[in-house]
Amino acid sequence: MIDNKSIIISFLTIILAYLYKNNKFVELKVNEMIQKAITIEYLECSSIEEFCSADRELIEKAVEAARNAYAPYSNFCVGAAIRMSGGEIVAASNQENSAYPSGLCAERVTAFYANAKYPDQYFDTLVITAMVDGVQCEVPTNPCGACRQVLMDYELKGGHQLRVILAGSKLLRVYPSIRALLPFSFDNLPEQK
Ligand SMILES: [Zn+2]
Repeated sequence: MIDNKSIIISFLTIILAYLYKNNKFVELKVNEMIQKAITIEYLECSSIEEFCSADRELIEKAVEAARNAYAPYSNFCVGAAIRMSGGEIVAASNQENSAYPSGLCAERVTAFYANAKYPDQYFDTLVITAMVDGVQCEVPTNPCGACRQVLMDYELKGGHQLRVILAGSKLLRVYPSIRALLPFSFDNLPEQK
């Protein structure tokens, strides 16, 4: 004899099977997704005169480094300068190679050089600038993705935010941290034991 309880269970089973077969559960999950947004805060100005003397010196070091870039293939000369926590400045430029992938961006040349030279200090401020035919680019040059990831590592290693100044001759931007330029950085390695 079939009682009411069995009928209800059978009915529910059929409904669940139908929903599952037609991906109704997936649709429900999609409908539950939450929309989120990221806000990136930075400063922008049109003249180096807006900066303090220490920052102006760092920007000038980056421009000077760009002049010494080895970029015979792209003719896009990039200079970077890092002020270390101890006050020292390390500046370098992009180094290209006829076997293209063998070259390296100015940001990474500078970061590796800085950390090799001052392994016990953190990076305080970084300036990036670019130049074509000996003339500084008017707008800021953004670091590539690989350099952002490398710089993120040093920010985490140092335990201090790495302030970033992207310096064009007519437009400059200041970011409080490299994380502002790489909000979803790779940091999923398991902890070392
Ligand atoms: Zn790069």
